Amino acid sequence: MQILSFCYGLASANMYVLLFGKEAVVIDPCCPFSETGLEDVDVKAALCTHGHFDHISEIDDIYSRFLCPIYISKEDQNMLYDPILNHGVDFGLQVSVSAPSSIFPGLDLKSADFGFSDPDAFSLKIVSTPGHTPGSSCFLFTTKESEKHMFTGDMLFMRSIGRTDLGGSYADMTRSIDLLRSMDDDIVCYPGHGPETVLGIEKRNNPYF
Ligand SMILES: [Zn+2]
Repeated sequence: MQILSFCYGLASANMYVLLFGKEAVVIDPCCPFSETGLEDVDVKAALCTHGHFDHISEIDDIYSRFLCPIYISKEDQNMLYDPILNHGVDFGLQVSVSAPSSIFPGLDLKSADFGFSDPDAFSLKIVSTPGHTPGSSCFLFTTKESEKHMFTGDMLFMRSIGRTDLGGSYADMTRSIDLLRSMDDDIVCYPGHGPETVLGIEKRNNPYF
């Protein structure tokens, strides 16, 4: 698996493209796909860590190009279609999505569930981590080579966590931190803003942990 990241927009959000040969999954579609410079790639699905405007703004671009399913948690799904709920209006942006979306088809998924030609390319665990928003999710990918990569959205940043005053809850966030603390130290984490980190390092150095 190859992980490409694209930082885009006024909030400098990260979009990630996970490449498995010519097939891909996109995490948090917030960068026009033409800006990635990727050609001959077939995006099989887009996954949203949460429904804030800066992570969903290019869903329609991805959908119109690839007609792929767009997945988000049930709790955050309505944010895609409402610029007040997704807080775009707070930043002067009317972000709302026209493409259809789906809620995650399960919490334990495999590449086969997304129509990948290699049904064992990866397994994916959807980790529910409310706090930043009611339906914030982390995506833990485990590859064939047993590498563990987790996309944390705005739940976990390097040495920080996401704010809870944009529709979230600090009590939920505290429980989500406890959940991440119980997970393996060697998980590489890819936040929705800023650089990547490693969960074990965050457990020791993140002041919120
Ligand atoms: Zn956010």
